[in-house]
Amino acid sequence: MKYIVCIKQVPDTMDVKVDPETKRIVREGVPSIMNPYDYYAVEEALRLKERFGGTTVAISMGPLQAEAVLREAISLGIDEAYLLSDRAFAGSDTLATSYTLSQAIKKIGDFSIILCGREAMDGSTGQVGPELAEHLEIPIITYVSKIVNVSENQLECVRLLEDHYESLKSPLPAVITVVKEINEPRLPSLKGMLKAKKATVPVWTKSDIGGNDAQYGQDGSPTKVVEIWRPEIKKEGKIVSGEPDQLAEVIYQALKKLGAA
Ligand SMILES: Cc1cc2nc3c(=O)[nH]c(=O)nc-3n(C[C@H](O)[C@H](O)[C@H](O)COP(=O)(O)OP(=O)(O)OC[C@H]3O[C@@H](n4cnc5c(N)ncnc54)[C@H](O)[C@@H]3O)c2cc1C
Repeated sequence: MKYIVCIKQVPDTMDVKVDPETKRIVREGVPSIMNPYDYYAVEEALRLKERFGGTTVAISMGPLQAEAVLREAISLGIDEAYLLSDRAFAGSDTLATSYTLSQAIKKIGDFSIILCGREAMDGSTGQVGPELAEHLEIPIITYVSKIVNVSENQLECVRLLEDHYESLKSPLPAVITVVKEINEPRLPSLKGMLKAKKATVPVWTKSDIGGNDAQYGQDGSPTKVVEIWRPEIKKEGKIVSGEPDQLAEVIYQALKKLGAA
């Protein structure tokens, strides 16, 4: 069994800035972290290895600085990691990102379960997992909250939906995206940190993973960002304090003024 985790490095801030010319996220000078949902994907891969045996691999597509999240994954217990980095990948939308990841996954080969976070904190489309499955022509189960069992050819899991859970079985290999309910991520051990420091993280470029040139980067990205803007906040909030009765009166009068009471 081989479990491959996709990890994205994201800006460590909610105040994401966008270059008005290129319409791309400004990453220079912004501290970066592992996408929070991807910690749960890493943890689940480690638990799958502990429960059913096998090896764990992490991959990330991004600039050279994204190596940091792969080293962090190794410090948590991941066996191997590969960084996909090439100028040719710049300007990728989710379709080109998932294509790039799928090519690397094919090169790694012999995979059973591909794990992704539910969504990335910056892009937040939640599209990369499903598109990855499409490129690899294998099943996808999104919002997985529990892995019940894994056998040679089958995955049995529980999926979290808005107001109920769904039990599903899927043939392997398959892609899953995970939610926070799935586990409690561990902290790195000292041994893990030392291993991560010494580990070699190979950097794969487009020529290493092959594929169709037209599906990479900007050329392979049908999505075009036409405009990006922040919604204008017209009114400022007002904080009031006092006893519950007084506060209820303040709210009532405010609603009355708006014609809502
Ligand atoms: C037209 C366009 C141009 C863009 N140009 C750029 C650009 O030049 N530079 C740039 O950095 N971004 C660019 N982006 C943003 C980029 O497409 C997304 O950040 C990326 O495709 C991931 O989408 P998402 O953030 O919505 O991830 P989601 O689909 O929300 O992520 C879900 C999960 O997929 C996995 N995942 C997602 N991205 C990666 C990754 N890179 N590596 C490994 N695993 C991953 C993780 O497990 C993650 O939890 C562009 C987007 C568009 C639409």
